[in-house]
Amino acid sequence: MIELSCYKINNLLSAYLENQLDTATTLTVANHLENCPSCEKELNQLTKISSLLKTAIQQANESDLTLATRANAINDRVKEQIALTIAQTKQPTNNVISIQKPIKTSWIKKVILSLAASIVIAMLSVFSLTYYATATGPLLIGAARNHQFCSAIELSNIGLHKGHSKTELSKQFNTKFPELDTLGIKFADLHPCEVYQTSFLHLMYLKGDNQVSVYYGLANALDKFKETQTQINPEQLYLETSGSLQVGAVSTKENTLWLIAGELSQEEIKAISSNLLKTRAFEEKQAELFH
Ligand SMILES: [Zn+2]
Ligand SMILES: [Zn+2]
Repeated sequence: MIELSCYKINNLLSAYLENQLDTATTLTVANHLENCPSCEKELNQLTKISSLLKTAIQQANESDLTLATRANAINDRVKEQIALTIAQTKQPTNNVISIQKPIKTSWIKKVILSLAASIVIAMLSVFSLTYYATATGPLLIGAARNHQFCSAIELSNIGLHKGHSKTELSKQFNTKFPELDTLGIKFADLHPCEVYQTSFLHLMYLKGDNQVSVYYGLANALDKFKETQTQINPEQLYLETSGSLQVGAVSTKENTLWLIAGELSQEEIKAISSNLLKTRAFEEKQAELFH
């Protein structure tokens, strides 16, 4: 059986808890947990929080509200529950009031990760018909849906790294984030994200009040894109319109894929894509972000 580091195991715990891992990985994690008290402790915290979140989401879902209102209701309840849990476990409380402040302890990070995941699951019910019908659809349409979805979460103030400065994040993730400031587009937030079951790093920007999504994907993302594109030329921009949203995709010579989505004109997408191509490719170790 393959041995994984505690770091890797920690990244798998959410999926383990939700029974989303394949049998071999499940066994690897289970075996590690039996022999590692620190990872076992992490799992216990995650289990506790996950069940709190499920209750919170269930309560918020019982009322027939709009997506944004539901997100806010879930957010409020979850904040209450997190504050409660933190008080119970006697963790430092300086980050409790606002989860927008820099997050210091790893388990709080996980709370928010699993929170985002749970909210995504809860909200999927809203989109369930359209989402599942096209769960294996064209990646660009997936990006448009995902953009709407994550923007709704963002509007409810529960973004993963809201309020973090870009410099700080660059250090934390040991990478450079694409600069779009010259286009009047400001970096706002980032989180790992799934588009049609494909992992991306979702960078969110703001153009005035409008959200702009930039997704960064590795080889598996490119494979997904190839499913609907017979030939992909590096650095060529592929465009798609979905409702009022414009989506663009551009692959790099290093076999990574950028997706752009937002209420944008084709000209703006072009400008953003050429800026993205100027961004030095993220280092391979960034793959860690993709679980
Ligand atoms: Zn461990
Ligand atoms: Zn996202």
